[in-house]
Amino acid sequence: MAKTDLFEAPDYYNIDDLLTDEQKLVRDSARAWLKKEVSPIIEEYYEKAEFPKQIIKGLGEIGAFGPYIPEEYGGAGLDQISYGLLMQELERVDSGVRSTASVQSSLVMFPIWKYGSEEQKKKFLPKLATGEFMGCFGLTEPDHGSNPGGMTTNIKDKGDHYLLNGAKMWISNAPFADVAVVWAKNEEDRIKGVLVEKGMKGFTAPEMHGKWSLRASTTGELLFDNVKIPKENILPGRDGLGAPLSCLDSARYGISWGAIGAAMDCYDSALRYSKQRMQFDKPIAAFQLTQKKLAEMITEITKAQLLAWRLGSLKNEGRATTAQVSMAKRNNIEIAMNIAREARQIHGAMGITNEYPMMRHMMNLESVVTYEGTHDIHLLITGMDITDIPAFS
Ligand SMILES: Cc1cc2nc3c(=O)[nH]c(=O)nc-3n(C[C@H](O)[C@H](O)[C@H](O)COP(=O)(O)OP(=O)(O)OC[C@H]3O[C@@H](n4cnc5c(N)ncnc54)[C@H](O)[C@@H]3O)c2cc1C
Repeated sequence: MAKTDLFEAPDYYNIDDLLTDEQKLVRDSARAWLKKEVSPIIEEYYEKAEFPKQIIKGLGEIGAFGPYIPEEYGGAGLDQISYGLLMQELERVDSGVRSTASVQSSLVMFPIWKYGSEEQKKKFLPKLATGEFMGCFGLTEPDHGSNPGGMTTNIKDKGDHYLLNGAKMWISNAPFADVAVVWAKNEEDRIKGVLVEKGMKGFTAPEMHGKWSLRASTTGELLFDNVKIPKENILPGRDGLGAPLSCLDSARYGISWGAIGAAMDCYDSALRYSKQRMQFDKPIAAFQLTQKKLAEMITEITKAQLLAWRLGSLKNEGRATTAQVSMAKRNNIEIAMNIAREARQIHGAMGITNEYPMMRHMMNLESVVTYEGTHDIHLLITGMDITDIPAFS
């Protein structure tokens, strides 16, 4: 039977006081909708390893697709903190649901909005904003993960069209995407953004199976065998590796908020459980060792909230750097992973069951710490930023 979602968000430093009424409204509406529509079904879909497609329309309605894309293109026209809060709420329920929205917003709508032609924006953005179209982002290849610049997927100019060949792997939303933003090299070795549409001859997107993590998000390959790409499907506004990396900056920023959501969910569950669970004639919350765990969790959540809020303010001013985003993504996922593990311990044996969310969050976070730049790569980005010496190769 579906459980009632009892989540209460911790706000130890009154961070709500820093938020505008609009930001709070966006967050609270998303939270209420997620509690009603997604919390009751998420465990079932996680176990089935299936994305609950019936929530797509609702995700569009709460503004989860393209929150900061201007309203003229169907987006919600919100600021960056509202975007972050939406990602926090989505990941509080499940990282897979947040991933679907992150990809749609920052990896599909963002490049079309920033680098697309007016025709491309009008054709794709309004439908992506409602969820009528779903999109995916193809950068990673079987032999090029942390080093996407080495990609071999390529386009060749054939006069009135391009021919696309190659393969992408680990692509979120790929099997059901209507449009794929694919990064491929041209004859001059420049990386270009290519809009590949479902149904194009020679294009397939088989689902990948066997994931123990992010099971409620669909992952697939993108295979291109002489796919004829009309010239109007190339993103004209920017080329080079900086183009996909700028999309990742936006998505990683969302992840830095999302990870707080997963951490808050685990903390909230552990706090409630520890007050109810009796051992040695006392609630386990009465033991100092339990209090140490809970006190450290809320301290780390509070620090992560402040980091994300400040980063959001910098983004609103157009001042956030890639390295600042890396620091927040890395830190907030790390604390979320630690909190999930500690919260699981507080629940004892019950903590390993699907009655509680920790194991699901814990497994999900293994993907989140790896995708959009691994934990170590983000450390190297901070290292490069403070020393001016790249240590990648
Ligand atoms: C569930 C899921 C969904 C994903 N969705 C997408 C998507 O939608 N689109 C997309 O394009 N990609 C996606 N990815 C791919 C993801 O971005 C890559 O997995 C990630 O970039 C890491 O690449 P890799 O797995 O090939 O690991 P590798 O690059 O092979 O790294 C393996 C290990 O080596 C380390 N390493 C690599 N280089 C260095 C170095 N220079 N110095 C020190 N250590 C190094 C890494 O930190 C890591 O620990 C997804 C991945 C997952 C798991």
